[in-house]
Amino acid sequence: MRKNITLFFMFLVFVVTGFANGDGKKDSKKPVVTVSILPQKFFIEQIAGDFLQVNVILPPGSSPEDFEPTSKQMTELSNSSYYFYIGHLGFEKTWIKKVTAIAPKVKYISCSKGLDLLEDECTHGENHAKNKQVHGTDPHIWTSPENVKTMSRTICAELVKSYPSQKVVFEKNLNAFISKIDTLDNHIRFMFNDSISKAFMIFHPAMAYFARDYHIEQYGIEFEGKSPSTAHMKKMVDIARAKKIKTIFIQSQFETAKAQSIAREIGGNVEAIDPLAENWLGEMYSIAAKMKKAMHIVTNE
Ligand SMILES: [Zn+2]
Repeated sequence: MRKNITLFFMFLVFVVTGFANGDGKKDSKKPVVTVSILPQKFFIEQIAGDFLQVNVILPPGSSPEDFEPTSKQMTELSNSSYYFYIGHLGFEKTWIKKVTAIAPKVKYISCSKGLDLLEDECTHGENHAKNKQVHGTDPHIWTSPENVKTMSRTICAELVKSYPSQKVVFEKNLNAFISKIDTLDNHIRFMFNDSISKAFMIFHPAMAYFARDYHIEQYGIEFEGKSPSTAHMKKMVDIARAKKIKTIFIQSQFETAKAQSIAREIGGNVEAIDPLAENWLGEMYSIAAKMKKAMHIVTNE
């Protein structure tokens, strides 16, 4: 009995301190805004500095395609002034309907607003015409520097509406961020300028907007968002050989075995990238460098 009581009190202490820590992390004086993924936290902090507390729905390491937010996150969201969502991520579709009913005071802003959106990357031409309706909008808008400029302008304009006293600071920060993105964009264009190959292969096709910006071709190994069949794998091996692809890109949030087996088959290697990293700017430079290497752009090779 005593043991049970002790356990009960330990549990109580855990719960109480747990909540206290949860609240402690939040600065109660700061307005809270919610975003779907970590790169958006980066965008908001570029604009708002530490004026806001940013609550991120997708935890590090999770895949936005099959994630389901918890009820605790629902509560956190209802305390936010804004929810800046991506627009077409798997979990957002069902979830946003639910939360708008529960938390109607939150301002819901799609970061896809004003963007030229792509249909889902399709690596299976023969089924495409038949099954066009099964493909949605490609959600990975933040892999394009050009898109991120528009997304940041959307975020800034909204924040200025709600926090007009910060207008000068936010807009100055926005311009500084946009000029950093321009530098990144010029850097990538210069790097890819003399590329020998203009194609890359990736397990989960998250880089379609990036590919569009820089006139390169993305080949996704996943088949309609699922693990590929043997026949599809064989097809990808053929494409890799024909396009002289030697590097298969993988992301830690998705399975890597199939990518590794294709890499073995073509005598190539796998290379990890993380488009969901919080340090978006740093990761974009890193992805570009890895892609340059993969497309063996070094002319004096
Ligand atoms: Zn994805």
